[in-house]
Amino acid sequence: MGTHGKLYVMGAGPGDAELLTLKAARALGECDVVLYDRLVSREVLSFARADAELIYVGKHPGEQERTQEQIFELICSHARQGKRVARLKGGDPLVFGRGAEEWRLAREQGIEVELIPGVTSAVGVPGMAGIPLTYRGVSQSFAVITGHCHDGLAEDWTKFAAIDTLVVLMGVTNRRAIAAALMAAGRSAEEPVAFIERGSMPEERVVDGTLGSVAAGLLEVASPAVWVIGEVVRLREQLMGKARPEPVPGAQG
Ligand code: SAH
Repeated sequence: MGTHGKLYVMGAGPGDAELLTLKAARALGECDVVLYDRLVSREVLSFARADAELIYVGKHPGEQERTQEQIFELICSHARQGKRVARLKGGDPLVFGRGAEEWRLAREQGIEVELIPGVTSAVGVPGMAGIPLTYRGVSQSFAVITGHCHDGLAEDWTKFAAIDTLVVLMGVTNRRAIAAALMAAGRSAEEPVAFIERGSMPEERVVDGTLGSVAAGLLEVASPAVWVIGEVVRLREQLMGKARPEPVPGAQG
């Protein structure tokens, strides 16, 4: 073991362990300590060394600040002992994951840091469900937005209204208010939406609807889910539908 520790800020992908990058799998197998979040699957953790110390540092709502400090203390104390520390986060570590904050703090302490990207749920989860975020003639742009704010819906949703496809993460709780805000900003109530719950995992479930049905509180959705808003949602039927039409019962007479 070298005298200098190292921090790997790495992405675990959305859940399915095969979506882990080769780089992340290799680095996980080399680390002495793995600090992992709530959305990291057991299969992904199996890439850690058998004798590695696995530490769950998932957060519960309301205790974000306190725990973030403790996580950072753990990173520092292990790295100062010369250990290789994996900070494993769901999806990509820099997409709403505070990975860059930990990276910056570690650098301030003189700790070497390597960033290992991950497949973000924002792009990979809709894709696997048959919803491309861009499609020629349908959508030329997308935005990834957090639906979670400390004090209600502080975000000004009118600034997103001109973007073709909107992807909302952490948006399940505030979905009604968000849908209403987007409609007030000019998006149509008829616009198709889809929530993909637990994407890439065996329990994956897709809930379809319209912006208007979300605003009216008609869609039951459970966290974690990626919420896609836009015409690209309609492509799902063509991409995921049966390759050949079902024989029509009785058609042969
Ligand atoms: N860094 C992560 C996002 C962290 S924010 C990434 O790049 O994917 C957490 C949010 O991500 C959840 O509230 C949910 O909106 C989304 N999310 C992450 N994994 C998901 C999954 N497997 N299925 C559905 N949504 C997921």
